[in-house]
Amino acid sequence: MGQSDQGKLTSEISAKETPSLDMKWSRVRHRFESEFGEQAFNTWMRPISFASQDAGTVELTAPTNFVRDWVERHYAGRLKDYFNEDDAHIRDLRIRLARKSDLKPASSMAESPKQTNAAVNSGYAPNNGYANGSVNQSSALEPRYTFDSFVVGKSNELAEAAARRIAESNDVPFNPLFLHGGVGLGKTHLMHAIAWEVKRRAPEKKVQYLSAEKFMFEFISALRFKDTHAFKQRFRNVDLLMIDDVQFIANKDSTQEEFFHTFNALIDNRRQVVISADRSPTDLVGIEDRIISRLGWGLVADIHPTDYELRLGILQTKAEQDGQVEVPVDVLEFLARRITSNVRELEGALNRVLAFATLVGRQVTMDMTRDVLQDLIRANDRKVTIDEIQRAVADYFNLRLSELLSDRRARNIARPRQVAMYLAKQLTSRSLPEIGRKFGGRDHTTVMHGVRKIEELRQEDSQMDDDITRLSRQLDS
Ligand code: ADP
Ligand code: MG
Repeated sequence: MGQSDQGKLTSEISAKETPSLDMKWSRVRHRFESEFGEQAFNTWMRPISFASQDAGTVELTAPTNFVRDWVERHYAGRLKDYFNEDDAHIRDLRIRLARKSDLKPASSMAESPKQTNAAVNSGYAPNNGYANGSVNQSSALEPRYTFDSFVVGKSNELAEAAARRIAESNDVPFNPLFLHGGVGLGKTHLMHAIAWEVKRRAPEKKVQYLSAEKFMFEFISALRFKDTHAFKQRFRNVDLLMIDDVQFIANKDSTQEEFFHTFNALIDNRRQVVISADRSPTDLVGIEDRIISRLGWGLVADIHPTDYELRLGILQTKAEQDGQVEVPVDVLEFLARRITSNVRELEGALNRVLAFATLVGRQVTMDMTRDVLQDLIRANDRKVTIDEIQRAVADYFNLRLSELLSDRRARNIARPRQVAMYLAKQLTSRSLPEIGRKFGGRDHTTVMHGVRKIEELRQEDSQMDDDITRLSRQLDS
């Protein structure tokens, strides 16, 4: 570092009373943001903290393995370059998982000195007379919505990791956390899970969870009863505020205004805020730009639609939790394949099947499932045809379609034929006789025999199970 740089740096330091490492780190962050943009910055840089610099090695921390791996894979090289612009001696950059002992709030280094004083207080429980609200709220939390019961897959792993980080940390890792995704994909579940976890770990913390609708309702009654002071106090004295479905306050000007003040007050006091919406901040229409921009300051995590694996995982978990009724795997697979709209509907379908089985005291079977869920299945129907199934199976096993449909009984042809029958039974709503007719006019008992055979083989033979899974998935898309 040259003489003049040194001088400049020193004067900045004394002006801001910030150690020079903070300055370097804050420059690195700025460089990152100008190169990769605000979205990448908010998602990946905000959660990262500067830990130490020792000889030629800089150490950063990340809140989760996921963030760490991602940043390492995509940005580590550039981050090192940025450090090198100030300090050519740095040869090595490491990112490790943040430990409990890393008490410093993740973004404190970039905050202005004004706010660092408040940061010191962030882990404590304010002691004031406004506890009533949080007691009320807690009754609204759904006991089922915990981290334990939340199944993680590709589509929701960032959101889940961020939620956990907030629930588990003593500081404010990113603020706010903005969760968005389509209806029924687990936003509310994650917010309740945060609340439960915080209550468990730090019962002294004040947690408020409410829908934006309720927020508005309470604000309006406070206005009516001229009680806005209590309203403000109530929301501004919490450690963690979660507001669900903020799209609801679009075009509600005075509620937005109040929300914005509350939100700013909490963020300035380094209290954690979690927001959800059915769309991203930038897609929120009817909400003021300054609010939208501030909503995007923290971590924005979207929840994508589920894929087949996640749906199956969720069903397995739910079926296990229920525990009363045994649900065969093929029924779970059938549901995961057929009910693709959202998790709420998926759960609804499983519950309906379970309720029916319990009521009539029968075992859950494929036939019963199809019966009970006729309407749902039709609504989600992708309409795979038997012809498509036959073509896909012939392709998969390197046979000609004519061979598959022929009378030949050689194992290498007869088995794939049975696979195709099995899939026809599973994936379409055709009856056994109809399927038989489509397979060169075979009898329905032949079809039934084939279906049973494959059911058995799936249990014993993992290769067979694999083949079926692949074919189903292929036909599904
Ligand atoms: P949203 O608030 O996004 O509309 P919810 O959180 O209300 O969605 O979720 C709808 C239902 O689906 C809830 O019963 C929830 O428990 C369940 N659900 C959603 N995602 C998952 C998941 N990944 N694992 C387990 N259950 C889930
Ligand atoms: Mg919700």
